[in-house]
Amino acid sequence: MSKEGSFKKMQVLIIGAGFAGSVVARELAEAEHQILVVDRRNHIAGNACDVKDSHDILIHQYGPHIFHTNSERIFNYLSQFTEWRPYEHRVRGVVDGKEYPFPINRDTLNQLYDLDLDEQGAADFFEKVREPKAQVKSSEDVVLNSVGRDLYEKFFLNYTKKQWGLDPSELKAGVAARIPTRTNSDDRYFTDTYQAMPSDGYTAMFENILKHPNIQVQLATDYKDWLKQDRQYDHVVYTGCIDEFYDCRFGKLPYRSLRFEHQHLADTEHYQSVGTVNYPNDFDFTRITEFKHLTGQQHPVTSIVREYPTAEGEPYYPIPRDENEVLFKKYKALADEEKNVTFVGRLAEYRYYNMDQVVGAALNAVDKILEKK
Ligand code: FAD
Ligand code: UDP
Repeated sequence: MSKEGSFKKMQVLIIGAGFAGSVVARELAEAEHQILVVDRRNHIAGNACDVKDSHDILIHQYGPHIFHTNSERIFNYLSQFTEWRPYEHRVRGVVDGKEYPFPINRDTLNQLYDLDLDEQGAADFFEKVREPKAQVKSSEDVVLNSVGRDLYEKFFLNYTKKQWGLDPSELKAGVAARIPTRTNSDDRYFTDTYQAMPSDGYTAMFENILKHPNIQVQLATDYKDWLKQDRQYDHVVYTGCIDEFYDCRFGKLPYRSLRFEHQHLADTEHYQSVGTVNYPNDFDFTRITEFKHLTGQQHPVTSIVREYPTAEGEPYYPIPRDENEVLFKKYKALADEEKNVTFVGRLAEYRYYNMDQVVGAALNAVDKILEKK
C-alpha cells in the first residue's frame, strides 16, 4: 500500500479475464485502483471456463481442468473465492486395446508384462530397462532414461507426436518430466498436497474474484479495438500471446491448439471408469475426459470431451523447444523495456504453466506493479 498522501489511484486496463488477468484485477482493486478487464471471448475464466451444457451437465469448455498445488499460499488465496470438493484425478492409458494405470507404476508393469513385482522389483525392473543418459535434454531423454524404450514406445512416443506434432526428441525435457514414474501402486495423476475442484465450478469462482466495486468487466472486446478510441491508462496488464502484442514483428511464435469435440451420451450414466483415458497409439485425439468424475455431479446421463491437437486455432500451449525460446526472448526483450505494461500468464510469458503457477505469477506481478508505482 502506498503511504498516506502519496497514493495515486491508477486507471488500469487488464487484457484477459483468465487466472492471470482476474487475480491481478482483484489485487489491484483491493489496493484501491480502478480496473477495467477486457476479454475478446464472451465469458470470463479464460481456458478454465466451465458451463452447464444443454443437458445440465457441468463441462469444461476448453478441456479438463483439475486444480492441484503444493502451495498453501495459493490454495488459501483461491479459498477466499470458492469452497472446494476434494478430487484426486486418475488416468488410464490404452495400449493394444487394454487400459493400464498411467503414470506408469508397479501395477502398470505387472499388468502389461504379466509380472508380480513388489516395489523393489519394480525399481529393479526400471533399472534393467532404462537407457541412462549422461545429459537429459529432450523429452525423449527423460522417458528413455527412466523407463526405457518399450514403455516409451507404448505410452509416450505417439501421444507426444499427436499432441505436439513433434518427436519427443524435439521437445524440451520439461514436457515429459511432468509425468512421474512410480515403483508403488499410487495411481493418482498428481501427488500435490492440495487437489480439489471449486465446489460450484471455475466460472463461479471467477465471478467471485471479479466481484468488486473497483472492477468493471467488458467481454467480447479485443483490446486493440478498444484502444483505437484513444483511451488512456496508467498501467496495462496483458495476458494474451506476447507476439500478437507486437504485431508478430519478429515472426509468429508457435502455440499449439486443440479442437474440442464435446459429446453428450443420452443413454449412459458412466462412460469410463476414471476421469481421463489416454489413447497414445489410436485415433487422432489424445484423450477422452468424462466430466462427472471431475465435478462429482450426480446425473443419470453423462458428457465427455475428445481433444484433437492442431497447429492452427486458439492458442492453448506454448511449445517448449529451444528455437521457440530464442524467438520468445526477442519479444521478452521488448516487453522488459515497457514501463507501463506488465506481461503475465501462460500466453504472455510463453510458459507451460498450470493454473496454480499462473496464480503465483499474477500475485508476484501485482507486487511489482505496486512497488513501482
Ligand atoms: P488464459 O486462460 O488463456 O486467459 C487469457 C485470456 O486473454 C483469454 O480468455 C483470451 O481470450 C484473452 N485475450 C487474449 N488476447 C486478447 C486480446 N487481444 N483482447 C482481449 N482479450 C484477449 N492447468 C492446471 O492447473 N490443471 C489442469 O488440469 C489443466 N488442464 C488444462 C487442459 C487444457 C486442454 C489446457 C489448454 C490447459 C490446461 N491447464 C491446466 C492450464 C490452464 O488452462 C492455464 O494455466 C490457465 O488457464 C492460464 O491462465 P491465463 O490467464 O494465463 O491464460
Ligand atoms: N504424455 C504422453 N503420454 C500420455 C500422457 C502424457 O506421452 O499418456 C506426454 C505428452 O508429451 C504430454 C506431456 O506428457 O504433452 C504432458 O502431459 P500432461 O497430461 O501433463 O499434459 P496436459 O494435461 O498439460 O495436456
